[in-house]
Amino acid sequence: MIKITRRAILKTIGSISVAGLIPISTKASDSDTKPGNDIRTIKTDILVVGGGTAGTIAAIQAARAGCSTILVENGSQLGGTTTTGGVSFPGLFHAWGKQVIGGIGWELVTEAVRLNDDKLPDFTIPYGKDHPKHQVRINPYLYTLLAEEKCLEAGVKLRFYETITEATFRDNNWEVETIGKGTRTKIVCNQLIDCTGNAALTSLAGYGVLREEITQPGSLMFKLGGYDYPSLDLKMIRKRYNEEVMKGRLVKEEFRNNIEGLLSSAGDNISHILGADSTTSTSHTITNVNGRTSLLNTLRFLRELPGCERIHIISMQPETGVRETYRIDGVSQITKDDYVSGKRFEDAVSYSFYPIDLHDKEGIVPKQLTEGILPTIPLRALIPKNSKNFIVAGRCISSDRLANSALRVQASCMGMGQVAGATAALACKQNTSPLYVSINQIKSLIADNGGIVP
Ligand SMILES: Cc1cc2nc3c(=O)[nH]c(=O)nc-3n(C[C@H](O)[C@H](O)[C@H](O)COP(=O)(O)OP(=O)(O)OC[C@H]3O[C@@H](n4cnc5c(N)ncnc54)[C@H](O)[C@@H]3O)c2cc1C
Repeated sequence: MIKITRRAILKTIGSISVAGLIPISTKASDSDTKPGNDIRTIKTDILVVGGGTAGTIAAIQAARAGCSTILVENGSQLGGTTTTGGVSFPGLFHAWGKQVIGGIGWELVTEAVRLNDDKLPDFTIPYGKDHPKHQVRINPYLYTLLAEEKCLEAGVKLRFYETITEATFRDNNWEVETIGKGTRTKIVCNQLIDCTGNAALTSLAGYGVLREEITQPGSLMFKLGGYDYPSLDLKMIRKRYNEEVMKGRLVKEEFRNNIEGLLSSAGDNISHILGADSTTSTSHTITNVNGRTSLLNTLRFLRELPGCERIHIISMQPETGVRETYRIDGVSQITKDDYVSGKRFEDAVSYSFYPIDLHDKEGIVPKQLTEGILPTIPLRALIPKNSKNFIVAGRCISSDRLANSALRVQASCMGMGQVAGATAALACKQNTSPLYVSINQIKSLIADNGGIVP
């Protein structure tokens, strides 16, 4: 079934004359197609910055609630770490045999599963210590397509290849300046949603952010092929690997000192890129180059080994996935003790469920939650201190480091995205700030849109 026409899409994005479906290049006005220095001003109710795991959901929810919504994304597609980063196994939507996160994220995930003839895990079977068994493997390409379709259907105006340069609160509205390929734009809006993962908009707006001295390593996701794992001489490979590490040609932390694991998994999220940081173009460039250099060096080493001569890269993501950068300094902060005790905050608006999952240079040992524990997310952890008309969603939620290592996962980020979209929409309609919107109203709007609320 074709759900949306090309004409409708172009009209939604704002790039077509209403006279008819004519190639854009011959009919659109010069200001749409020619690079220029003039700042164009546009108005909207809500601006979402960052079209990743949380931002896509926030934008769809805000638009479905009836607010005009713009989504600015500096990449070329939606989904962020879930798609561009290649971490296409979102979790966890279920806890102790019961679904605890639903809504727009779940709608997208299940549609991607259906349209790819995949199967959902059986959530009634406890996963024991192996929580990835309850993560949902999705086709990331399809997820990107579906996310974009749902945004356009909801009326979200997408702006790819664009980033933010200034944010000023004036006359009860935000004025956000953006720069893109050949565009400079001032977006005047009533509410801002920061879904950049790095709290980039929060920093730009002048609100407080927090960061650890050492952050978790990132991972470049890739897939290798061209070898037969069971027939490899792993003892010989370990010896040769240790020699290369000793000579300084390979860095042992980059594959968690686990060359056997790299070969048995053929890639996925085994790489560990120390110091990975996506906060600025400079740090993100270094992070990407480090991820790719590490893979290339390892590939060259492997191809010298008996049994691996024909090893090759089947796929590789365009970015190194980043686990941790900045978090907001929120009105409330979720601590590890709050998380592992399943504290029920009075302003709880969503659930989160995952082990404490902090990667370091030695690797990772997830710490499972005690049976029956179900952590909640308070609205105030999504709101920077002293902020106005501003809310965040995603991994930059206000939390201490250990709580964040669990809160940052995709199902939780999707849940937060829906909270942020719903809250911003209500705040816009009530001409107030997210902090002053009634928790019951937020919960009921989320529930009306298929979400699950505490
Ligand atoms: C290697 C790795 C493995 C992981 N494993 C799992 C797992 O097994 N299960 C799980 O559920 N989670 C996992 N996670 C965690 C999870 O994927 C992320 O924490 C989550 O997706 C973050 O969502 P987000 O919306 O906060 O950020 P993102 O999805 O990263 O989205 C941020 C978006 O903002 C855009 N952006 C950033 N800055 C700007 C700017 N200035 N202007 C415009 N746009 C901007 C980015 O391009 C991006 O699209 C993993 C993460 C990594 C990196």
